[in-house]
This record gives sequence, C-alpha cells and structure tokens, in this order.
Amino acid sequence: MSSCPHFFVMPYPILGHMNPLLQFSHVLATHGCKITFLITEFNQKRMKSETDHLGEHIKFVTLPDGLDPEDDRSDQPKVILSLRSTMPSKLHKLIQDINALGCDNKITCIVVSKNIGWALEVGHELGIKGAFLWPASATTLASFESIPRLIDEGIIDCQTGLPTRRQEIQLLPNSPMMDTANLPWCSLGKNFFLHMVEDTQSLKLGEWWLCNTTCDLEPGALAMSPRLLPIGPLMQTDTNKSWFWKEDSTCLYWLDQHPPQSVVYVSFGSLALMDPNQFKELALGLDLLNRPFLWVVRPNIDNNNNKETSDSYPHEFHGSKGKIIGWAPQKKILNHPSIACFVTHCGWNSIIEGVCGGIPFLCWPFFSDQFLNKSYICDVWKVGVGLEKDENGLISKGEIRKKVEQLVGNEDIKARSLKLKELTVDNSAEGGPSSKNLEKFINWAKDYNG
Ligand code: UDP
Repeated sequence: MSSCPHFFVMPYPILGHMNPLLQFSHVLATHGCKITFLITEFNQKRMKSETDHLGEHIKFVTLPDGLDPEDDRSDQPKVILSLRSTMPSKLHKLIQDINALGCDNKITCIVVSKNIGWALEVGHELGIKGAFLWPASATTLASFESIPRLIDEGIIDCQTGLPTRRQEIQLLPNSPMMDTANLPWCSLGKNFFLHMVEDTQSLKLGEWWLCNTTCDLEPGALAMSPRLLPIGPLMQTDTNKSWFWKEDSTCLYWLDQHPPQSVVYVSFGSLALMDPNQFKELALGLDLLNRPFLWVVRPNIDNNNNKETSDSYPHEFHGSKGKIIGWAPQKKILNHPSIACFVTHCGWNSIIEGVCGGIPFLCWPFFSDQFLNKSYICDVWKVGVGLEKDENGLISKGEIRKKVEQLVGNEDIKARSLKLKELTVDNSAEGGPSSKNLEKFINWAKDYNG
C-alpha cells in the first residue's frame, strides 16, 4: 500500500483555470502527493522554460487540443468542442500508459476544472475516482446547477438559455440579486449553454467540488451541496512564482518609486478583448487621472489583427504618468503597498487575488460570470464600485476619472477591503477552515489509495 496518492490534474486550457489548478497541485505536493499535470501542446509552447523545474512531485504531460496552430483559442465554444471530440481517447491511452509504469505510479484520482467534465467519464471507465476544482465562484457553480429549475419556472429558454424576459432574480439565499440577462452563459451563445448543461451533469462524477473560495465570501452558495469544499484562497499557498506566461517584472521597481496607495492598476485578465473605440477611451481616461497608473495591455488586446501597434492608442494619448506592460506579475502587484485600486474585468482569480491584497475594485465586467462577481464586490462585500456605460455603450473617459477618484477617496471601502482581506487570508492559515478542508480531501484520496 502506498500512502502517497497520485493525482492526475487537468485544467481546461486557459490561464484562469491553469493557474488555480497548478497552485492547487503545489499544495498537494507539499503534502507529499505526486502530481501529473496535463497541458495542451499549444500552451506548452507558450510556457516559461522555468516551468520545467517544478520539483520532483509535479510532472508535466501534454496532449494536442485538436485545433490548428493558427486557430483562435479565445473562441471558447470552439475550444470546448475540439477538446470534447478529439481528446477523450488520447487521454484514456495516456492514463493507461502512466498506470502501466508500475504499481507505485498508478493514478488514484483525477482532478479537472470546468468545461472538461468528460475527463471524469474517462477516469470512470478506468476505475479512477474524480473531483472537480471549480475555478470560478461557488455561486457560478450554483447557477449552472439551477438551470433545470430556471427552465421549469419559465425564467430561461431550454434551448438557448436566454431569459424569457428580463428580470432581477436571486439564485440562492444570501447571493446578490442579478439581472437574468447577465446569467453566466448568456454572453457565450447557445452552443456554450448546451455544452454547460451537459458538463454540469458530469459534475456528479466528481466526489468533491473543490472551490477557490471561502465560507465568508459565499456562505449561501456553499450551503448548496455537501460535495462543495471551499479550499481558498489558493493564492496564499503558492510560492510567488509565475509559471505560465512571461511577466514583465520591471513594473515592481517602478511601483517601488511611488507612494503608498497612489497607483491605479488596470488589467482585464487573459481573455477579455476590448473594442478599439473603448480602448482609446480608456487610454484617454487614464491620462485624465491625476495619478500614476500601471496598465496591462496584452499584445492581442487591441483587436488589431493580434498585433500591438502604436495606432491602437489615440494620438492625444501621452501616458506620461503611467507604465504599460504586456503581462504582469499580478499577485505581487496586488500585494504592493503603492497600489490604490484595481480596475478589473472581475475574473474570479483576479478577484480572489485582489481581495487577498486588500485592494478596492473598480469593476468593468465583460462576459460570463464577471457580472455576477461584480455584484458580490459592489453589493455584498461592498469593496468596490462599478463603471457605467454611456448612451453609446461606451465607458467614457470622464466616467473612468470620476469613479477612480470616488473609489480611492472612499475610506469606508478601504476599511472594508482590509477587513475582507483578513477574513479571507485566515482561511488558508494552518488550522483555518480551508486548510482543514484540504486535509480532508487529501485524506480521502489517501484512503482511497489504500
Ligand atoms: N494574470 C497575470 N498577469 C496579468 C493578468 C492576469 O498573472 O497581467 C493572471 C491573474 O493573476 C489571474 C489570471 O491571470 O490568476 C486571470 O484569471 P481570471 O480568472 O482573473 O480571468 P480570466 O483570464 O480567466 O478571464
């Protein structure tokens, strides 16, 4: 009998899933577990070389994602369908090959993120138990679980997932009110909705639904199912290394030159794409601020044939108070004393990282669960404010300046942000509820292994 479980960890291949699953793998490794971590061949090519040296406990393996090199991997429905149709048989063989290496190497548990629930079916066929690590909020998971009820109650259409009429609903007790037009699947199209219905069914194959959250952040959602296990915040357990994309760390020295709580940090995660007019308005809005800003402009964020060109910025933009970088060491930035607030797309990982930094948020959601996450920030935890579009559907430069000033001058929000940080970070400390949950999960895997 081996006392060391071997986890096969498989994220859906976007950064917002790869990051938390790799952090989670690190935690498992510190508990003596062995990890095989699957990434797609496409993502492996983008990884930093240091990722090869993650220690003896974590081994990387790759499989193709089934797309051509030039295919657009920000097209989520396309990626989801490609993985679903090309990967299961390859995954089956890969796991068989790993298991054939010897008794001590046998995989004891598969952990997957959302959109690839079918991987647990592969595990099931091979007699391997599984768990989910849900990389979004527990409330988002609850919203997917609520789909049959929402259909029964005539709130959404069963074929498209779109609301039959626009209204405010509350998905769960203690969760914020939400506009049915902002249900997480509404911005992603019919195919995505139908896939999510199917994917949510395979949730049942996961013995545990691990979530990067805490009881204080989402008490209502966590009461939904005994399988839900909050293990967040995961970021507190990492070693501050970056694993995937190359970060521009020069901004940390730049931040060192600025007084406490003076810099506005602007970043929209790894996927959100901004309309060129909106991009220009944002640039002008940042220029209007009477304070320094650190702005992440991913090389493909300007919608300009995936090339960064100076034409993307308006002619009037001078940016003299700011620093623009292609990819940031975000967690370090959000813990830097010079940061005053975080202009964010409200991706769940960014939110957890911002909460752990005690930073107030200026919310600019783009799609999916980001609207729901914004409601938590603004209406439940009250640690941020939202940006409003004008009659042309743009967030104007004036609105950006007004809301930044409103936010950084709000002492109540600052105090609540620091309080929320304390509450949240304590969950992962030794003896805290999340670390106990993690131990429970590892012991379950060990028992199973025995
Ligand atoms: N991130 C980063 N550098 C950046 C922007 C983002 O390291 O310049 C990381 C961020 O720390 C987070 C992840 O990318 O862990 C983004 O995940 P999130 O769920 O916030 O958004 P998504 O990219 O999935 O929309």
